Amino acid sequence: MTKIKTGILGATGMVGQRFIQLLHNHPWFELNELVASPDNAGKTYAEAVYNKWIVEGSVPENVANMTLIDSEKASDSDIYFSALPHESARLLEEKLASEGKGVLSNVAVNRMKSDVPLMVPEVNPEHAELINIQRKNRGIDGFIVTNPNCSTIPVTIVVKALEQFNPEQVLVTTMQAVSGAGYPGVPSLDMLDNIVPFIPTEEEKIQTESLKVLGSFSDKGIENAKLAVSASCNRCAVRDGHLESISIKFSEQTSAEKVIDALKNFKAEPQKLSLPTAPQPAIIVMEQQNRPQPVRDRLNGNGMAITVGRVRECNVLDIKLMVLGHNTIRGAAGASVLNAELLHKKGFF
Ligand code: NAP
Repeated sequence: MTKIKTGILGATGMVGQRFIQLLHNHPWFELNELVASPDNAGKTYAEAVYNKWIVEGSVPENVANMTLIDSEKASDSDIYFSALPHESARLLEEKLASEGKGVLSNVAVNRMKSDVPLMVPEVNPEHAELINIQRKNRGIDGFIVTNPNCSTIPVTIVVKALEQFNPEQVLVTTMQAVSGAGYPGVPSLDMLDNIVPFIPTEEEKIQTESLKVLGSFSDKGIENAKLAVSASCNRCAVRDGHLESISIKFSEQTSAEKVIDALKNFKAEPQKLSLPTAPQPAIIVMEQQNRPQPVRDRLNGNGMAITVGRVRECNVLDIKLMVLGHNTIRGAAGASVLNAELLHKKGFF
């Protein structure tokens, strides 16, 4: 099988390094172009990340000697994964889509546009059809598809798995890892021995993106889910893995046992299609009282599963639980790769 030529925009960053790990040996996608800032264009990948390769293991051998290119030169791939800063992504993603390329983006800049799918394949695979509206609106052959913010993805998977009980209100309090701020990210003197009770724009992202992801698709576009979501976000001295405390009110009566059953039995399209990056299962439910924990559970399902624990009844809303997702894998690079696998399987490229 001929592999699909693939580029990574922002290949040297925190999320870019996860893309390298997930794609250097992918069965369908072949790494063809690696894009970094003008400062690093012309260097080999290994030179550029010499002091800042901070994910597990070493730089893969087949990537180390690839030469980084400037974003203006990106043109020779069929699809591009984007992990750029906001401003760099703004023009480049639209330019590539207008040149017929598929863009799978982690960046917030295009997420809430009405003709851009905001996808979590376990939750809203049918939103892929929005690509047809986008192509028609813009007169393009390419597309932009986005995945939500890292802390939104676990929330939407949990709510989707519990849709039979009709969720109405969701309260989320996050304990987020420092890698969520990129590299070098938050200064160590702000993080050590500390929790910072504010992450700019994070609460708004969870509150708005969840509604689009959980919304319904028709030929008119996406109608947001009728759900109230309130989020409080905290940055904690954890390297990787966002832990979130979630309380949910349902209109249907339920119990902790029924919720645990629904989470354990959740089956979604990526798992049914056996997509290469799909975790089996998507949701792991732990019974130990003190789990999930970032350092122990974040790599469940190769970092693609979300792990739920402490499911119990809530005296204010109906059910409360803890959920953990690996922010740079499930919440970023892995989310885009799974979107690409689903879109390829559906014939969008
Ligand atoms: P990061 O570690 O700061 O990496 C940024 C990347 O963009 C680097 O490869 C950098 O290249 C490149 N870059 C910077 N300026 C550029 C320019 N003018 N032209 C081309 N490339 C440029 O950031 P990150 O954490 O990986 O985040 C990347 C994006 O993903 C952001 O939009 C972020 O909001 C989003 N995101 C991050 C997470 C997370 O958990 N970290 C989760 C979800 C979404 P150099 O190395 O050459 O500077």
